[in-house]
Amino acid sequence: MTVDILSPGKLKKASPVFGQTSFNDHEQIVFCNDKDTGLKAIIGIHNTVLGPALGGTRMWNYASEWDALNDVLRLSRGMTFKAAITGLNLGGGKAVIIGDAKSEKTPELMKRFGEFVHSLSGKYITAEDVGMETADMDLVRTVTPYVTGISEDKGGAGNPSPVTAYGVFMGMKAAAQFTYGSNNLEGKKVLVEGIGHVGEVLVEHITNEGGEVIISDINEARLEEVSKKYGATVYRGNDPYIADVDIYAPCALGATINDDTFHKLNATIVAGAANNQLADENKHALLLQERGITYAPDFLINAGGIINVYAELEKYDRHEIMRKTENIYDTTLEILNTSEMRGITTHQAALEVALERIAARKAANK
Ligand code: NAD
Repeated sequence: MTVDILSPGKLKKASPVFGQTSFNDHEQIVFCNDKDTGLKAIIGIHNTVLGPALGGTRMWNYASEWDALNDVLRLSRGMTFKAAITGLNLGGGKAVIIGDAKSEKTPELMKRFGEFVHSLSGKYITAEDVGMETADMDLVRTVTPYVTGISEDKGGAGNPSPVTAYGVFMGMKAAAQFTYGSNNLEGKKVLVEGIGHVGEVLVEHITNEGGEVIISDINEARLEEVSKKYGATVYRGNDPYIADVDIYAPCALGATINDDTFHKLNATIVAGAANNQLADENKHALLLQERGITYAPDFLINAGGIINVYAELEKYDRHEIMRKTENIYDTTLEILNTSEMRGITTHQAALEVALERIAARKAANK
C-alpha cells in the first residue's frame, strides 16, 4: 500500500514506513498508542549488531506524525554510528513522544511509555533527550529496568548533558587544532545556537578558556540568564548563520545545515551537540568541505552523554567516564586528518570507522 505524503513544496508517493526517505534498514519500528494517557510514541531500533539499541527519548510538538517518524528514523540511525565509533557495545535506537513536554507530559504518560519500553525485553534501552529530565527517567525506572540516565541517588550516573558538553568541547578543540594549528580557543568567537542543558555548559567551557561566546535561542529568559551568568553576547540579528564568528556550535535541533544555510556561514568550524546537523549528510558535508569549513561529525563529538549512561550498564566510574569522553579529542583529530589525507568528507571518514566496526562484529558473530 502507498500513501501520499505532503511535504513542503512537493507531493510524493512512498510506502508508509519502509519508503520513508530516512528509512535505512532499520530493524524494528514500534508505534506506541495509549488513549487513557494520550501517549503517542514511536520507538526506532536501527541496529543491534553491537548490543542492545540505546538512545534517548525526545518529546517534541511535531508538526505532523510523519515528521516524528522521520526524526526517530534519523536519530536512531545516528545512535548506531555514535556507539560504534565510540567503541561501545551498543546498538542504535531512539524514541520520540509526540506532544508538548511542558504541558502534556504527565507521570502516567511517562510510566505508560516505560511499559512499552519494557515490552521490548531489553532490545531497546531508553534515556533522556530533548524535552526529558532525569526525573522522567526515574519514573520510567519504576516500571522497567531498561532505562539509563536516572538520578545518582537511585544508582544512576545522573544528568548526561554536562558530559556531552565536555565531549563537544573536546571535539571543538580538536577541530581548532586541525584548522588553526592550535587547540586553544582563547580569542575565538563562537556562536552557540541553543543554550539548553548542553549548550549552557559548553558556553561555560569556552568562556573559561577565554573564547568569546555569542548565544542564540528561541527562549528569551534563557538568553538573559546565560548571558548574565557567563558574560556571553546575545545574538540580536535576524539570521544567526551570517554571524561573524570563527566557530558555529549547533546545540538546538538538527538539520540546521541545509540548502538555505550552508552558503551563509562565516564560521570556519562547525562543532556542536545537536544530532543530525546536516540536513543531507553526504551533500552538505561535501558543500561544507568545498567552502573550507571543518565539520566535526556530530555523532562523534556528542557521544559524551552515551558514554555517561553506558557507565550505568557497565558499572564504570566517573573517572572512566571523563577519560573516555576526553578521548573524543584524539578520535576527532584522527578523523579530520584521515578525511584530508583521503580526500573524503569528515562525515564519510567517521561513518567508515563506525561501519567497519559493525561489519567486523557481524562477521565474528557468524
Ligand atoms: P535542551 O532541550 O535542553 O536545549 C535545547 C535548546 O535549544 C533550548 O534552550 C531551546 O529553547 C533551544 N532551541 C530550540 N529550537 C531553537 C531554534 N530554532 N533556535 C535556537 N534555539 C532553539 O536540549 P539539550 O539536552 O541541551 O540537547 C541539545 C541538542 O544536543 C539536541 O539536539 C540533542 O539531541 C543533542 N544531544 C544532547 C545530548 C545530551 O546529553 N543532552 C547528547 C547528545 C546529543
